[in-house]
This record gives sequence, C-alpha cells and structure tokens, in this order.
Amino acid sequence: MQLEGGCYCGDVRFHVDGDALFQGQCHCRECQYASGGHPNAVIGMPDAGFSYTRGTPKRFARSDIDNAVTREFCGECGTQLMALSPGLPGVRLIKVGTLDDPSVFSPQMAIFLVDKQTFHHVPEGIPTFERGPG
Ligand SMILES: [Zn+2]
Ligand SMILES: [Zn+2]
Repeated sequence: MQLEGGCYCGDVRFHVDGDALFQGQCHCRECQYASGGHPNAVIGMPDAGFSYTRGTPKRFARSDIDNAVTREFCGECGTQLMALSPGLPGVRLIKVGTLDDPSVFSPQMAIFLVDKQTFHHVPEGIPTFERGPG
C-alpha cells in the first residue's frame, strides 16, 4: 500500500510505502482533542517505509500521563498528522484525514471505548476494546 498525504496548508507532506499493520479508530479522550470530538481514524504503517517529503512537523507529547504518544502536527496550520506510541515501536499511526485519498480506510477495530461518547459511531461487526487490544 502506498499512501500520500499532508496537512491542510500543504507545508508538510509525507509518503509511506508498506503493508498496513492495522486500521482502526481510537475513541480515547486524548484523541478527541486531536480529531475535533470524534474518534481518530488511523492506519498503522511501518516507519521503515515512511518519509516526510516536504517540511518538518512539530511534535508534542504530554508529560502528565503514562505512555503518552508523541503527536506530530503542522506548526503552521495545526493539522494533526500522526502519532507515535511507545507501545508500538516502529509504527506510525497516520491520521486518515491527512491522506490524499481517505477512502482507502476501512476500520478493523475500535479501541478505548472506555472514553466513547454517545455520539460516536462504531461500525457493526468489528472487534471492540475497552482500552488497547491485548
Ligand atoms: Zn499545514
Ligand atoms: Zn486515542
């Protein structure tokens, strides 16, 4: 799978080539900030095939929670591009909304339903987890 994407203003662009490790949606409270309120839709791609082709994102990780993810985002327009989780080394959790073609996404799991809001939608028939899988 080859994916191209970038931020809203175009300052940051990326390319990734590899097999998607998973596709899912995360309902955690932290992701609600990044998404605007709904779950984050993410595709996990191997870091080995990933590169930024234009610009450099800003990075942020909370220091007040355990195992905080590092979030990469455009410093100009603020678009949340992807996250790197200490629990998933070598994986980039790319936000589907930044892809040139978001229609490639098909969620295969829903995680952190512990923080799910009543207005969130979970597709029928996919595995769900109170927190992370496993
Ligand atoms: Zn931007
Ligand atoms: Zn999350």
